[in-house]
Amino acid sequence: MSSIRCAYHPERDALQYCNRCGRAVCNSCVVRAAGGNLCRPCAEGLHRTARPRSAHTWLWLAAGVVLVLLWLVPKLLR
Ligand SMILES: [Zn+2]
Ligand SMILES: [Zn+2]
Repeated sequence: MSSIRCAYHPERDALQYCNRCGRAVCNSCVVRAAGGNLCRPCAEGLHRTARPRSAHTWLWLAAGVVLVLLWLVPKLLR
């Protein structure tokens, strides 16, 4: 009850909150980002979902859908 503990270090006191997931984190877990303080997993998640990458993901998804349709349509027409 005395203090809030870090979500990743149960033995450490939390001094910050992650702006994204709201978890309490200690000073060694906090990552300063453009959007404020983040915990490490959230900071890494931001890197993974960077905009150029997600645009490519959508392109690959669209290409996959087109390929599946090209493969399926001849079978359905028979
Ligand atoms: Zn977080
Ligand atoms: Zn910690």
